[in-house]
Amino acid sequence: MNVDKLMIELEKKHPGEVEYLQAVREVVESIEEVYNQNPQFEAAGIIERLVEPDKIITFKVPWVDDQGQTHVNLGHRVQFNNAIGPYKGGIRFHPSVNLSSLKFLGFEQIFKNSLTTLPMGGAKGGSDFNPKGKSQQEIMRFCHSFMIQLWKNLGPDMDIPAGDIGVGGREVGYMFGMHKKLTGEHVGVFTGKGRNWGGSLIRPEATGYGAVYFAQEMLKAKGESIEGKVASVSGFGNVSWGAIKKLNHLGAKVVTISGPDGYIYDPEGISGEKIDYLLELRASNQDIAKPYSYEFPNAQFHEGKRPWEVKCDLAFPCAIQNELDENDAKNLVDNGCKVVSEGANMPCTPEAIDLLLENKVLYGPGKAANAGGVATSGLEQTQNAMKLNWPAEEVEEKLRQIMVSIHDSCANYGKESDGYINYMKGANIAGFMKVASAMLDQGVI
Ligand code: NDP
Repeated sequence: MNVDKLMIELEKKHPGEVEYLQAVREVVESIEEVYNQNPQFEAAGIIERLVEPDKIITFKVPWVDDQGQTHVNLGHRVQFNNAIGPYKGGIRFHPSVNLSSLKFLGFEQIFKNSLTTLPMGGAKGGSDFNPKGKSQQEIMRFCHSFMIQLWKNLGPDMDIPAGDIGVGGREVGYMFGMHKKLTGEHVGVFTGKGRNWGGSLIRPEATGYGAVYFAQEMLKAKGESIEGKVASVSGFGNVSWGAIKKLNHLGAKVVTISGPDGYIYDPEGISGEKIDYLLELRASNQDIAKPYSYEFPNAQFHEGKRPWEVKCDLAFPCAIQNELDENDAKNLVDNGCKVVSEGANMPCTPEAIDLLLENKVLYGPGKAANAGGVATSGLEQTQNAMKLNWPAEEVEEKLRQIMVSIHDSCANYGKESDGYINYMKGANIAGFMKVASAMLDQGVI
């Protein structure tokens, strides 16, 4: 494989798909050496087949608002690769959704799912629909319309979506309900379902918990622990909430959260009733950072800024892509930050990652560090297939073991001659080797 030649070809075929091209470049640069040591990959065209999705489904989603006005959004499902198991990956509703961002997320999902040790292929879907400010009825009508278009392409052994940004338990419920109505079957076709109808305990917390467990393993490999560390977290969505809960549980002090309007610095730590208050704000669809600073006067609100200027030992970017750039990475390094564990997908820019790696920060890339969410979705699928519900402790222990195993696979492939572990390289190679070997076994299809 010649990385530059491959990328030039891909850029010609998919001009302007910035996020997707960025994600492919990161992976192919990491795996180039092992790829070229295995001539059977080249002969079977593994990389050329892996960088293109198996199938992309694009459809219109018409819906009617509460005033009787009709709107039309676009929906997509990118079924990227099912070599090691049925397609699996979330659905995102956000105005920024386009094919490039979904192709990037679907491509990443292949390697993430491979790392979990569970049999899951990679996919991603979504719509440019903005759920913010919409009524419950509008959300329901939109979800139903989305599923009327997509249902034929889904199934418990074919493609199993889940939530993502803008898609939580409520939206999963509406989409699952329409799928059930159209097929007449109550099957495990979604994960992140309600607890009374097939959802797994711990799934809502799993991504955040997993990112913290991954950080714990990175620290353990250096003889350190989470206890007593100061942590900076961004966002206050599903992933941030889980990360904050687990960090508190393991004895860290969380001093920041953020929203699109700015960040909160709370030197006394964000825990207990403060988390309950944030959850209330979130449930009522309000901005969270500014009201928090009114309620807890020792906290400071920094309008329009990101939390990475705050001194911390551990950083957990858990909000959105490209939310931590080179300048932010420099601030973290200068302030002595030891660990960056990505709860979100691609929150660090490529320049930020280079700087963290150069400075030997323990950097957990999203495809490894936030794989706990999809891993627990895989555990939900297993429970559905067995028609069983496991208790929370059992699910959490399985999740913890999976995060340890992901860490160890990354360390195995990412250890450098000076002992530093490049987890990004390790994650890409470990994820790739399993998928590539399945593709070899199955022939050119
Ligand atoms: P949510 O929608 O629940 O939360 C996103 C949070 O980020 C919200 O608090 C949102 O604030 C905030 N936010 C949005 N834009 C910005 C910004 N520009 N600056 C600061 N904060 C911002 O999403 P999730 O927590 O589910 O997902 C977060 C990330 O984690 C995504 O990248 C997702 O792909 C990734 N991920 C999620 C998984 C899951 O299980 N949920 C699994 C693996 C990865 P507001 O609500 O005010 O817009």
